[in-house]
Amino acid sequence: MKNVAIVGCGSYMESGYGCPGEWRCLKAASLGEGSFDQEVKVVAFHTCHCPGRNTAPNIGMAVKLSDIKPEAVYMSSCMANAKPGCPYTKAEDMADIITAKTGLPVIMGTHDYH
Ligand code: SF4
Repeated sequence: MKNVAIVGCGSYMESGYGCPGEWRCLKAASLGEGSFDQEVKVVAFHTCHCPGRNTAPNIGMAVKLSDIKPEAVYMSSCMANAKPGCPYTKAEDMADIITAKTGLPVIMGTHDYH
């Protein structure tokens, strides 16, 4: 089973009812739905906090210290498809920063549940 990490928008997670951090990302990962083409094991879940400067370093540290290294980082749908968007960073730019830090591909979005 593929090992993955997920990163989500903490600003949304902490204020949105039924947010992906509570269940949607994890459901999609468990069932192999949405952006997951198979059932996966979530070995790290990182919450971005404004202004997002610690996100890539913290994911990098999780990847470095974990005995179970993820093969990819999935950016939560709330972060990848935010409307209105993040006031600090474009999701694509954040994905590039995470890849530069970890060497891992970043998949944009996790689920399409409503
Ligand atoms: S920096 Fe952007 S993506 Fe990160 S928590 Fe704040 S609003 Fe969300």
